[in-house]
Amino acid sequence: MPSPCVITIAITGSVPRKADNPAVPISLAEQIESTHEAFEAGATLAHCHVRNDDESPTSDPERFARLMEGIQAHCPGMILQLSTGGRSGSGRERGGMIPLAPDMCSLAVGSNNFPTRVYENAPELVDWLASEMIEHDVKPEIEAFDLSHVFQAVKMSQDGRLAKPLHVQFVMGVKNAMPVDRASFEFFVATLTRLAPDATWTGAGIGKDQITLNRWSLELGGHCRTGLEDNVRLDRETLAPSNAALVKRVVALCPEFDRRPATVAEARSLLGLRAAA
Ligand SMILES: [Zn+2]
Repeated sequence: MPSPCVITIAITGSVPRKADNPAVPISLAEQIESTHEAFEAGATLAHCHVRNDDESPTSDPERFARLMEGIQAHCPGMILQLSTGGRSGSGRERGGMIPLAPDMCSLAVGSNNFPTRVYENAPELVDWLASEMIEHDVKPEIEAFDLSHVFQAVKMSQDGRLAKPLHVQFVMGVKNAMPVDRASFEFFVATLTRLAPDATWTGAGIGKDQITLNRWSLELGGHCRTGLEDNVRLDRETLAPSNAALVKRVVALCPEFDRRPATVAEARSLLGLRAAA
């Protein structure tokens, strides 16, 4: 029996613009439509950022609230995950959407370099974001850009700063951070499984290596992330026409690894989330 894979669609992010690919959804209407198409294609988890009208990133909770409402109306049961990433705001404004109580929020638990700057996640801010997630019953997705982030997440779950079980996303291919390296990827998975046997995980690859991480994650029993946030192309010459097209690419890979896309109910159960309202 093929084992189910939760497919995350990272619809927008804070970096790609219409100039990079006109299919990047920016307005709320575009974001809701793009998420709906991806949902129909087999995605069960939407990872969301919001933008201002001029395409610049924001953490505006009001905008996040309207996006949540639209996705919940059009994609029944889809898991909603809002980003607390540092490109969209600074300090505690990064967590201003947590009280909206989405199913999940992303959470970086350590710092590392990004292409042009330091991705700063100071311990005091990480602890505050984590405490907000506990208070509002929001499950974090730990963004592991480095092995130390895996150890830190486990430590935080052991001392009560994070709820168990953990869900961790291994991110590879960000310039100046972890490269796409198979042996390291296997070590990430083995380390998480050793330290937190009940944890679940997703692999995310940036740019042309999005599909590499999709393959590795399917093979090693993890979950998959795709979407225009991380990659705007199907191949060197071809822009991805939509988020749904990137989801279809993962769905098509599944049988090769004896996997299949999870249903909404399976995805919620696999990640230990409450059933959809
Ligand atoms: Zn993101």
